[in-house]
Amino acid sequence: MMNIILLGPPGAGKGTQAELIIEKYNIPHISTGDIFRAAIKEGTPLGLEAKRYMDSGQLVPDDVVIGIVKERLSKDDCQKGFLLDGFPRTIPQADSLAAYLNSSGRKIASVINIEVDSQILLKRLTGRRVCRNCAAVFHIENKPTKIDGVCDHCGGEVYQRGDDTVETVNNRLQVYRTQTEPLINYYKDKGLLFTVDGQIPMADLFVQVSKIIEGTHQ
Ligand SMILES: [Zn+2]
Repeated sequence: MMNIILLGPPGAGKGTQAELIIEKYNIPHISTGDIFRAAIKEGTPLGLEAKRYMDSGQLVPDDVVIGIVKERLSKDDCQKGFLLDGFPRTIPQADSLAAYLNSSGRKIASVINIEVDSQILLKRLTGRRVCRNCAAVFHIENKPTKIDGVCDHCGGEVYQRGDDTVETVNNRLQVYRTQTEPLINYYKDKGLLFTVDGQIPMADLFVQVSKIIEGTHQ
């Protein structure tokens, strides 16, 4: 089974690797953000419960998060494998996931952890610019617009999102490290953790990621 968990801080290139993985191995991408939105849209009991917390600005409690993930993982398309992205975030979530998979004769094959130096992440994220009109993404160093502040595609205004400022990015990275550190040790202890260098070109990184997936496939 190709049951994979993908870990990595914001800006590590997790989205790109996720796309490459699901395309090559034909497994569903289970992103918690997406399945939450889907559960709320479908109006499932857990979706509605999650919505109540979100509407009142509260964190959705672990048991609701876990419930929604389990609902998704019980579907047919997940039986041969899945790529989990954004879950688990805590040790209790990781324990529940292991117990749930075990109860259905499954287990996690690998946890792929993309590591990138904080200073590089800061550069990547704070240099990001987005078109207000068509949402195209640019970068002041790696992918600048031809005309300063103007979108290459539609001529719309290109701006820096509020969560891409230095202060917010530092805060997001800090939250990620604090939250994920215990999880990294948890999976390391279980012999499931594979750390890869997110600073090499994305095609080279994918070669390494593929080797891990194929080496742990059962
Ligand atoms: Zn545009």
